[in-house]
Amino acid sequence: MYEKTEKKLKKLKKELKARLAEIKETLTGTRSKDWEEAAVEAENDEVLEGIYKEASSELAQVKFALKRIKQNEYGECAECGEEINKKRLNIMPYTTLCIQCAQQLEMQHRR
Ligand SMILES: [Zn+2]
Repeated sequence: MYEKTEKKLKKLKKELKARLAEIKETLTGTRSKDWEEAAVEAENDEVLEGIYKEASSELAQVKFALKRIKQNEYGECAECGEEINKKRLNIMPYTTLCIQCAQQLEMQHRR
């Protein structure tokens, strides 16, 4: 039923993994001796670390979504069990929450 979505998610998973590996390589790469250059690199590292965190949480969501497809639970909100809006699933195929629960969660994070 969700074959297309599954394909999309698997592709996304691959891309995310590749991106994470790339960032990791950059982050663990050799440092410049020059302190000015090193300062710029440290700044870049912070940005990269942010991207890394984002990508790894996205990857976790993708994995979770794939699991839910296997368990025939995909398209249902993991929180309230309501059906997730199809448009939302199209834009964010890895989402496992309906818009209401996602907004609620976001609000909790902000507090
Ligand atoms: Zn919900």
